[in-house]
Amino acid sequence: MSKHNLGPVRLRVAPSPTGDPHVGTAYMALFNLAFARQQGGQFLLRIEDTDRARFREGSEQQVFDTLHWLGLTWDEGPDVGGPVGPYRQSERLATYRPYVEKLLAAGHAYKCWCSPQRLQQMREEQQRAKQATGYDRLCYGKTEEERRQLPGFSETPVVRMLIPDDVELEFNDLIRGRVNAPRPDDQVILKADGFPTYHLAVVVDDHEMQVTHVVRGEEWISSTPKHILLYRWLGLDLPKFAHMPVLRNVDKSKISKRKNPEARLTWFVEQGYVPEAIVNFLALLAYPPAKDAEGNDLEKFTFAEFSRDFAWDKVNPIGPMFDLKKLDWLNGVYIRDLELSDFTSRLLPYLEREGVLSGNPSLGELGRLKDIAALIQTRIVLLKDAVPLVQPFFVGDDMLEIAEDARRDLGPNAAHVLSAAIDVLGDIDDHLASLTEPSAWNVARIEAALRAELVEKLGLKARAAFGPLRTAVSGAKVSPPLFESMAILGKTSTLARLHALRDSL
Ligand code: GLU
Repeated sequence: MSKHNLGPVRLRVAPSPTGDPHVGTAYMALFNLAFARQQGGQFLLRIEDTDRARFREGSEQQVFDTLHWLGLTWDEGPDVGGPVGPYRQSERLATYRPYVEKLLAAGHAYKCWCSPQRLQQMREEQQRAKQATGYDRLCYGKTEEERRQLPGFSETPVVRMLIPDDVELEFNDLIRGRVNAPRPDDQVILKADGFPTYHLAVVVDDHEMQVTHVVRGEEWISSTPKHILLYRWLGLDLPKFAHMPVLRNVDKSKISKRKNPEARLTWFVEQGYVPEAIVNFLALLAYPPAKDAEGNDLEKFTFAEFSRDFAWDKVNPIGPMFDLKKLDWLNGVYIRDLELSDFTSRLLPYLEREGVLSGNPSLGELGRLKDIAALIQTRIVLLKDAVPLVQPFFVGDDMLEIAEDARRDLGPNAAHVLSAAIDVLGDIDDHLASLTEPSAWNVARIEAALRAELVEKLGLKARAAFGPLRTAVSGAKVSPPLFESMAILGKTSTLARLHALRDSL
């Protein structure tokens, strides 16, 4: 392969398309990308799809979509191309072959014809005898014909590494310093289906793609000595290694897609997390926040700030806790800090998904949405929380449903309160006096009128006075602020809703 004059550093994320993308993929992409950007190097996305049994159609696209959504974008990859492609391992099969031949010829690797049944039996016997499990080298040093005479022969061999007794088990890790890994087994590097295993493919590809820093999850620590052997045998330069601490639940168990919905990146999209908050949260999981002058943690930061100050030796190698409460808090902070029009447009996909608005809302609808958005921006944690708050403003007055719990809580005075409100609000003139003057149907007038009539004149407590009105206009016990809601709805709608509830009592 010709040497390209690429950036000073090249890093990659290498997900396997085996289903919904895992949150760990974003976490890994983030740390790789932060360093690549800081150093003015490149960030690559490689799809590791050599495990055909676990391959899931559509998963690759989900990886692209969720990482793009998070703003973790790559310079080279299967979708954007690049100088060292293809970036999908299934399209690189011919690349691996000569490396396997070289290892076989040098005696660093050997063919193994043991059938899966024989390997299974061998493992069971080792376990029964309380021995360490591992390949017993039955095929080592045998020709195909010699091996055929023995039981458990399979026509399609695999290729295994011959792990020497003096294999180097220690290596340098940018985060952990010297690391000592367990002794490996004679690892399969080429499978019976002709596909390389991860171990061979990762070494060949990281070399061919000129990756300078291999940054991946700590679950790969035990594989690194095998990879280092391959680099040495093949005469290739070693990259630097960093093994990120694996993400854990608050109870210390590993985050898994089976147990945790939040292990799936698509879940964060569905819930209405803000991508910037997720990126910030993922960084905080393994990285200490900077401090302000008073020594307080600066927990909110942008990707650019993170990347600028990033250093490997500051990464905390101890299993970070994936605390969703913290993410919720951070998400609320991000939501509150968004520009109103940005916040408004981020609500649109959630409103469309629930049928509150069409995918192509009118200018009038957008204007109304923005007014409502201003009322709820400080009140929600997730973008999807906006849906029930916004929905009442986009249904016809006769279509508004009154929630069961809200109806139950109306109290004995509801009809009376609603009638009084209808009278006093009916007196407010909602016509525009002029184009420059606001209509009298505004928050201050509505509030003053209702307080004077219901609280002062009728002597009701605010809750008893305004609860039924809230239920009438929003159908629910929780809504955006009442007077503001009435102002946005307009006089006609407000009165129609008050009438409708009163007449239903
Ligand atoms: N395909 C591996 C994974 O999904 C990549 C590991 C690595 O980065 O080397 O975890």
